[in-house]
Amino acid sequence: MLRVDQIVKGSVEQLDVHGTGILAINRDRVYVADVLPGESIRVKIVKKIKEGYVGTVVQIDVPSPLRIEPPCKISKMCGSCHYLHIDYAHQLKIKKKAVISLCMEEHMPLHVHDVIGMKDPYAYRNKIIAGFSRDKKGAVVTGFYEEHSHRIIPYERCRMHDAVCDRIIQTIRRLLQAYRIEPYDEDRRKGILRHVLIRKGVVTGNIMVVLVTAQKVFPGVRNFLRDLLKEHPEIRTIIQNINMRKTSVVLGNEEKVLYGPGYIEDVLCGLRFGISSRSFYQINHDQCEALYKKAVELLQLKGNEVLLDAYCGIGTIGMYAASHVKEVIGVESNKDAVKDAQANARYNRIKNIRFICDDAGSCMVGMAQRKQHVDAVIMDPPRSGSTVKFMEAVSRLKPGKVVYISCSPKTQIRDLKYFAKLGYHAKELFLFDMFPHTYHVESIVLMVMK
Ligand code: SAH
Repeated sequence: MLRVDQIVKGSVEQLDVHGTGILAINRDRVYVADVLPGESIRVKIVKKIKEGYVGTVVQIDVPSPLRIEPPCKISKMCGSCHYLHIDYAHQLKIKKKAVISLCMEEHMPLHVHDVIGMKDPYAYRNKIIAGFSRDKKGAVVTGFYEEHSHRIIPYERCRMHDAVCDRIIQTIRRLLQAYRIEPYDEDRRKGILRHVLIRKGVVTGNIMVVLVTAQKVFPGVRNFLRDLLKEHPEIRTIIQNINMRKTSVVLGNEEKVLYGPGYIEDVLCGLRFGISSRSFYQINHDQCEALYKKAVELLQLKGNEVLLDAYCGIGTIGMYAASHVKEVIGVESNKDAVKDAQANARYNRIKNIRFICDDAGSCMVGMAQRKQHVDAVIMDPPRSGSTVKFMEAVSRLKPGKVVYISCSPKTQIRDLKYFAKLGYHAKELFLFDMFPHTYHVESIVLMVMK
């Protein structure tokens, strides 16, 4: 038994899928952030959890040779990048190892391939969400939320984004101050601007700015917009999103287009996609292209298949795969994304694709009842993974092949175990580094019906 506040010494064995170092102290496991495998450290026990204890590093006695000085002054406070203290090539090895351990713990004997990394793992994020508040002196500050808190960590430049996005955010900060537009205070539920979301089309250079406000009325908006556009003519569209709820979810359901067409365009795998503010679009353009290519390659399509693109977002994978099959059916629950998908199919003149707005599980149950023929499925659910309803519907539709893409190997492996019970088996797992410097990794696997 360890005690809270007790200092223990140990060596880090490995990092888990959340990037947390694991130390074995006698029979107890202690979980510690910001460390590297092989490091000898002193840790203060903070609390007891079901799996063992959480500790914080007091001192690193023997640092790993792979430890580097993080190229960011606020990385430890901001909490968005968990691995900036680790040499990039080694980050990839750590991610692979964590997935191998997960497979072993879950008794899933999958062959895990090396993580496909980026040549230049910076400026890869095409979306930023910044918050605003006032500091003690009353000056408006902007930045990212501290992990697990609502405190804003001020920043000026984040190397994970294109510099132009950071410049726009800093301009907005100055304009708030100049026009006395109050940042929203969550505790007092007062103020106007909650967040700013910026999205950039990597290929087209299109920029979308979404101003999330806590009320419909936006005093001073005309002058604010005039100055913002004067300083940043590169902005293609500006949207006001109204979120009056007491919630940590960034976007509300109501929107007003303040400038431009209300969406941006980007080019992915040679196709042009319109993206509106509330639709999902992959964060990392280049890695996304590599991932989609892998998905289609794994299916070894012949050209006569009916392919189901489940959790299809704005239809990106389905449209990329459309030229390789007879027909694609996309299923997505977000209405805005389905509208984008339909417009995108028309724009790219893809005739053999249609989209259904529904819960993927319910939609597939319906398809099975109607005896819809499906040869192959590409599924790309959110982090929480798929559902029993969806997986059972797959087994009723009986596609020969299912490609499962996931941003959470943990829920993916949980689902693969269930799929195996239903007769769908996977052999190997491919990993793509969609989120360099974080513990996240994208994984893709082919399951074949046996
Ligand atoms: N395949 C797309 C989107 C993946 S993100 C791409 O690569 O861009 C996951 C998508 O699943 C999101 O668009 C989300 O809106 C959608 N989604 C979440 N739950 C769903 C459900 N139960 N049924 C259908 N779609 C769902």
